Amino acid sequence: MNILAIGCHPDDIEVSCAGTLAKFAQRGDKVTVCHVCNGNMGHVVIPSDELRVMRGEEARKAGALAGIEVVSLDIGDLLVNGYDMEQRDKVMELLRIYQPDAIITHSPTDYHGDHLAVSRLVFDASYVASCVQYQPGVSKVAAVTPLFYMDNFAGSNFNPTEYVDITDTIELKIQMLECHVSQLKWMRDHDGMDFADFVRTCSKFRGYQCGVPYAEAFTQAFVYPKIVPRRILP
Ligand SMILES: [Zn+2]
Repeated sequence: MNILAIGCHPDDIEVSCAGTLAKFAQRGDKVTVCHVCNGNMGHVVIPSDELRVMRGEEARKAGALAGIEVVSLDIGDLLVNGYDMEQRDKVMELLRIYQPDAIITHSPTDYHGDHLAVSRLVFDASYVASCVQYQPGVSKVAAVTPLFYMDNFAGSNFNPTEYVDITDTIELKIQMLECHVSQLKWMRDHDGMDFADFVRTCSKFRGYQCGVPYAEAFTQAFVYPKIVPRRILP
C-alpha cells in the first residue's frame, strides 16, 4: 500500500502516528510524510529563516530512521487557511503525485487552528484530486481514498474508533521524535517539560484502552465515498 500522512508542523506526525507509520514501513508499504507548514514560528529565539531550514532537516532525519520520505508544502506557520483554494490545490497536487491508498491527517476536533486548517484542506483536496476535469494535466487524477484522523494532542476531545498496537515501534517513535531537537531540547531546557515522556505516556494511555503496552488511536472520515469494508491500519 501507499500511505500519505499529512501533518501541519514538522513534528506533528511523530507525536500522533509515527509508531503506526513505522509499522506500515516495516511490512513493506511505501510511506510518505508531508508537513504543510515549515515550522518557522516554532521557537522563541531562533530566527524564522534559520528555523525553517533546521526543522525541515529534523523532519527528514526523523523520517529516515523509519525509511519514510518527508516532503513539505513550505507554507509559513500561522499562514495556513482551510478555505484557501491555492493551498487546497497544493494539497490536491500532492495527492495526485503520491497517489495514496490511504491518507492520515489531523482530526477536525483538534486544539490548534492551523491543525484544523490542514484537516480541512486535506478533506477537500481528497475529493477535488479525483475530479477529472479540474486542472487536468497537472498530474494524474487520484482516487478518493479512506481518510484517517490521528489522535489529538493529549487525547483531548478524541474518541478513537481504531487502535494500532505500536509496542514494537514505540522506541523508534520516540527516537524519531527526539530528532526534533529545536523543539524537545528547548522544552527540556526552558520549560522543564519532557515532551518525549509526554508522548510516551499518551501512547501508554491508549495502550491501556486496548490491552497492549503501547498504542496509537485513530478515527476516520465516515463519509461517502471514503469508507471501505476492510481494515487498512496495521
Ligand atoms: Zn502542530
